Amino acid sequence: MPAHTDHPAIKALRDLFEQQRPSATTEQALKGLRDAFLGRKSGHITEQLKRIATFPPEERRDFGAQVNALKAQIEAALDGLHDTLQAGQKPAGAVDVTLASREIPIGRIHPLMRVRQQVEDIFARMGYEILEGPEVEDDFHNFEALNMPPDHPARDMQDTLYLAAPIVGGTWGAHRGRLPKAQVRAATLLRTHTSAMQIRYMKTFPPPIRIIVPGRVYRRDNLDLSHTPMFQQFEGLVVGPHVTLADLKGTFEAMLRELFGDVKVRLRPSFFPYTEPSAEVDITCQACAGAGCGTCKHSGWLEILGSGMVHPAVFEAVGYDPEQVTGFAFGLGIERVAMLKYGVDDIRLFYENDLRFLEQFPL
Ligand SMILES: [Zn+2]
Repeated sequence: MPAHTDHPAIKALRDLFEQQRPSATTEQALKGLRDAFLGRKSGHITEQLKRIATFPPEERRDFGAQVNALKAQIEAALDGLHDTLQAGQKPAGAVDVTLASREIPIGRIHPLMRVRQQVEDIFARMGYEILEGPEVEDDFHNFEALNMPPDHPARDMQDTLYLAAPIVGGTWGAHRGRLPKAQVRAATLLRTHTSAMQIRYMKTFPPPIRIIVPGRVYRRDNLDLSHTPMFQQFEGLVVGPHVTLADLKGTFEAMLRELFGDVKVRLRPSFFPYTEPSAEVDITCQACAGAGCGTCKHSGWLEILGSGMVHPAVFEAVGYDPEQVTGFAFGLGIERVAMLKYGVDDIRLFYENDLRFLEQFPL
């Protein structure tokens, strides 16, 4: 419709019709609308048809054409409204205020991201710096500087995905498991833990240090209820002149009580090459309040993170003096926290992006 060439009177009339059209929700209202515009004596269109003769001859033809065009449009629209009413439907533009509104889908924060944000928030308030590191690492940062020289048996604890293995006929490709010692130092790999970033940070900055490093890590694991080849961790590192095991425990108690509510925290002796002493940290099982149930394998406790006091050999590898500083480090699995916090028993659900699963989490 060439509205830009319309005479102002025609445009005003078209607007008036569009404005009144939604009110024609009954046959009676429709008849009223038809009379108002097309009534023989005083309909708006009839009035305009009478005006044609008053225009100067050179404008008469154009104005007449516009009036007749609008008349045809209104007739067609009224006929359409009539058909709609006959069919028992609501005409376009009519609103039934008693109908429920259409649901507008609202996105949610992914449960893993929610846990990550919560942990970051807790540590940020304790004065920690939050940073990320590279996912592709070299052997030095992922293993050697963390007190795992090439022949160290602890390397077998983490089945590594090597990216560039110069030994495999000169080709580049994933290489399973350990490499012969001669090739190990030249290898690049997908980091098996965020601990690699401890080394990068300490090599760059002097103590004191208080950092957490969230990020993805990779291991050659098959998918099952509790394993994925890619998962997410928080690395934590605190280094200073007088950092003690009591600081470690106090930090975990503060963090874990904020994450899980009123839980007890205990340390259990463990082994990691890069900490001495090392401890697994457990919290009381929330499902049974510590009484023992299937979730906690009837122990009353759930393992939540690995930690320990930084091994002097790690400080030496980055040029710190182990006589001057002490520190603690920890690794916290984000999926592990989310599974315990939300009662999810299959880690794969977090990565399938099934809306039926994701929609169960609060906004
Ligand atoms: Zn339990």
